[in-house]
Amino acid sequence: MAITKVWIEEGCIVCNACEAETPDVFHVTDTSCNIVGSARKDGVDSENRDEMSELNDDVQTDLADSIIAAAAGCPVEVIKYEQA
Ligand code: SF4
Repeated sequence: MAITKVWIEEGCIVCNACEAETPDVFHVTDTSCNIVGSARKDGVDSENRDEMSELNDDVQTDLADSIIAAAAGCPVEVIKYEQA
């Protein structure tokens, strides 16, 4: 199982739960949450809603469970992902 892409829809309330769960993928800012560039193939820090960049190959498999846990723990359900 792998998570190929993860992104943040509008409505993040910057609660920090996702970063606490999976800091190698999520970084919470003053206004939203970014998918960190070091985890992505395009290297960009952003919500990844527009870019829809794939995660790095090792992140797709190694952090799949952590990403799913973070998405399940988001109180406003704005963490979305594609699973392969
Ligand atoms: S868990 Fe959800 S609401 Fe909280 S910071 Fe992360 S994306 Fe935003």
